[in-house]
Amino acid sequence: MTFKELGLAEPILKAVEKEGYTHPTPIQEKAIPILLRGKDLLGVAQTGTGKTAAFGIPILNYLHNSQNGQSGKRRIKALVVTPTRELAIQIGESFTAYGRYTNLKTTVIFGGVKQGSQTRALDRGVDILVATPGRLLDLMGQGYISFRDLEFAVLDEADQMLDMGFIHDIKKIIAKLPPKRQSLFFSATMPKSIVDLSRKILGDFERVTI
Ligand code: AMP
Repeated sequence: MTFKELGLAEPILKAVEKEGYTHPTPIQEKAIPILLRGKDLLGVAQTGTGKTAAFGIPILNYLHNSQNGQSGKRRIKALVVTPTRELAIQIGESFTAYGRYTNLKTTVIFGGVKQGSQTRALDRGVDILVATPGRLLDLMGQGYISFRDLEFAVLDEADQMLDMGFIHDIKKIIAKLPPKRQSLFFSATMPKSIVDLSRKILGDFERVTI
């Protein structure tokens, strides 16, 4: 299979080509069609499998297609929650790269640094927000973040987030998301605690295991 056969919009295909990707990886081949159909997804996959593009490409594709000449300030349409600053930065760079020929804006927020540049970016308006749980809750509490227009929620590396003690933070974040959304849940392992959490987040979902 090729990326072209997945039916992606031209600017996304062009960005994928610029990255030098010739063929989708197995998780991309399985997950992208499911996500393009608007289904929730449970992905059992590790980092290094091409997981980021597996969710990034269909999200960008959808948001690009639904953009048609929007005016006014951008509001967050996709949220990606991931456990560490390093992962957040990597995911942010991937969204920026795959979206380079679109008019979509990605911002990354994480703890351990002053919040000024992050809140200024939020004030300017973003389409896609990549965040670690603590800083996200913090800025939500300060009123910098509205999920009114949210369409996609991605929970990445869920098992690592639980191991790091983020379960309560995750539940608080989920409680603030609009119920009508497409939800994506990724974990490298599937112990019972993760299955329970995935049930809280996902609606009618399809499962992809790599
Ligand atoms: P990830 O699992 O998202 O951390 O991705 C692992 C690495 O695979 C990253 O360096 C990506 O740039 C690369 N990658 C993702 N998709 C593809 C693809 N279809 N072809 C070649 N490399 C890819």
